[in-house]
Amino acid sequence: MDLLTYCKRLPKIELHAHLTGSLSDATVLQLLEVKREQLGEHHLPDSAEVTIRQGHNRSLEECFKVFGILHYLSDSLEAVENITRNVIQEFAADNVWYLELRTTPKHIPGKMTKKQYMDTVLKVVRSEMEHNKITVRLLLSVDRSRGVEDAHTTLALAKHYRVSTEYKDLVCGLDVSGNPHVGSLLDYIPVLEEAKKCGLKLAVHLAEVPNEDEVQAILNAGLVDRIGHGTFLHPGSGGTQDHLTVVRNKLIPLEICLSSNVKSGTVKTVEQHHFARWKELKHPLIICTDDKGVFCTTLSEEYYLCAKTFSLPEEDIQDLCLQAVEATFMNQKEKTILRQTVQNELKSLQGKLLM
Ligand SMILES: [Zn+2]
Repeated sequence: MDLLTYCKRLPKIELHAHLTGSLSDATVLQLLEVKREQLGEHHLPDSAEVTIRQGHNRSLEECFKVFGILHYLSDSLEAVENITRNVIQEFAADNVWYLELRTTPKHIPGKMTKKQYMDTVLKVVRSEMEHNKITVRLLLSVDRSRGVEDAHTTLALAKHYRVSTEYKDLVCGLDVSGNPHVGSLLDYIPVLEEAKKCGLKLAVHLAEVPNEDEVQAILNAGLVDRIGHGTFLHPGSGGTQDHLTVVRNKLIPLEICLSSNVKSGTVKTVEQHHFARWKELKHPLIICTDDKGVFCTTLSEEYYLCAKTFSLPEEDIQDLCLQAVEATFMNQKEKTILRQTVQNELKSLQGKLLM
């Protein structure tokens, strides 16, 4: 089979996907329709404003404006239910077997509390896992632009679910994200320490833009289980030898989001992406979408883009699937089962790729 078909057939693991950024065009159109019925035609964005087509780029700041529109469109519990269902089904249709979704618990006065928002997401996750061949876990997102108080309430919510009978198996950690030009991650270290003490895993957007001091301090704190992007970590791509040493010694996996980085302009071209430098070091790398809706991509297409750009042999492509299994926030028992099923599927695909 050809490379794209092969990538679609791979048993894939998605570890860096923001719920709201993952909305497909079809879902955005649905949400726009609902708003139109409520408000009439006034002041509504066009669906083309919220996705970035092939060959188009936007600045990181413009991307954050897009996220603002998406949040506005999903401001009811009914919308939250729909978008969660659609996103999970779309990942399942792309042959993603395990998905770690991340989302910022939303509080919209008069419409939903953070707890109601999360309860709705978790309820849909539970029901979709029964109807689709996919395992889903949740990371609660701490938004660095919202301040430490807000982070504490998100942590309290995550702690609540960790001991709840209903959802303790579904909530596995925290994500730290948000506009990297706003706030300092150092302010959040106490929250992250507390999270670790409670057994929560931490995926942190780090070195998405150059910020040497912040990055080194966070790495030195030794709290991060996976790094989102890590664009400016390697000394060859704007980082430092000290960053490299810590990340290498601790073997902290990097979540690689090729289309996202190129389309939002933090990396010039796919060819110049830091993936190549880290691969040379045999460092654990996970191919992810980040925001499949906003960046108009799928996980299969990200695997394809990576394999094609860096001329990966079949063995390396398969190895990316397995590295992703190792980097999940599942417990050892669950991971063993997932590894076995992924290995079996990969074996059945072996030799079927026509290069
Ligand atoms: Zn992200």
